[in-house]
Amino acid sequence: MSLVLPTYDDVARAAVTLKGVAHRTPVMTSDTADRLTGAKLFFKCENLQRMGAFKFRGGYNAIANLSPEQRRAGVLTYSSGNHAQAIALAGRLLGVATTIIMPHDAPVAKKAATEGYGATVVSYDRYQEDREDVARALQQKTGMVIIPPYDHLHVIAGQGTAAKELLEDVGELDYLLVCLGGGGLLAGSALSAAVLSPKCKVYGVEPEAGNDGQQSFRKGEVVRIEPPRSIADGALTLYLGKLTFGVIQQKVTDILTVTDTQLVDTMKFFGERMKIIVEPTGCLAAAAVMHGALAVPPGARVGVILSGGNVDLKSYASFITQA
Ligand SMILES: *Cc1c(COP(=O)(O)O)cnc(C)c1O
Repeated sequence: MSLVLPTYDDVARAAVTLKGVAHRTPVMTSDTADRLTGAKLFFKCENLQRMGAFKFRGGYNAIANLSPEQRRAGVLTYSSGNHAQAIALAGRLLGVATTIIMPHDAPVAKKAATEGYGATVVSYDRYQEDREDVARALQQKTGMVIIPPYDHLHVIAGQGTAAKELLEDVGELDYLLVCLGGGGLLAGSALSAAVLSPKCKVYGVEPEAGNDGQQSFRKGEVVRIEPPRSIADGALTLYLGKLTFGVIQQKVTDILTVTDTQLVDTMKFFGERMKIIVEPTGCLAAAAVMHGALAVPPGARVGVILSGGNVDLKSYASFITQA
């Protein structure tokens, strides 16, 4: 069976669906960051998106594209947090009931926020069970529609609208850095860059401990890894999707990795210098350019997507005060 990969037209349609619903988030710059890297950095602040991450874009776009019967059946998903909140909020806005399958060790703030948006939460053990199996079993019992966190055409298209806005706002870029979990944000961003800034090199950035994307990209097939341990809890996926990998293979230049220590340093930079809270996963792309995983020529125009800001304050305090 041949896969139908999403295209830029899908991103453009998602942008219409999201107009007036998702925030058009600001693009921030920092003289200090530019001085440190020798480049001109443009930070797309999806930490300031509704529910605190870009995932609102894909979640809303996916539910908005369901048929009336599907909406009546309700939506089911699995997530380590932000996709869950996105589906929960989008479901509430669109009047669709939502159920979320979440790891037992998901951050407290994410679980509470998801329930706060009115979703039903079901827990599973991420070291013992496969979340997709848990979801399928529940779907068979209830008839709900599964909207997965990344391997879904309308999710990818929605995520691509952040890079579309960035490129519309600042013009063409030489590089675009995007954090990588299952690849929805990276695939969508690459679709936008290919049309709006064709010469732009697009890089994905993963935690070093969970570099399944880098391994897959280099091997030319999806590689599965054991559950990684990293503070980048939004990028602990074990494998890329079929659709996301298809787009990434065609449109992405390479995949880089950064360490947890570099993520903490980057998180501190955002708090101290730019006065914004960015969650560990949200620091992946910035850490790559600020800590040398990607060396860029002087004056290069570099887009950096800050993917989210959902970190509970206790964890945030312990991250930024650790030596
Ligand atoms: C989900 C998420 C990611 C990873 O996105 P994918 O589309 O799965 O690659 C990165 N950062 C944050 C904050 C997220 O919530």
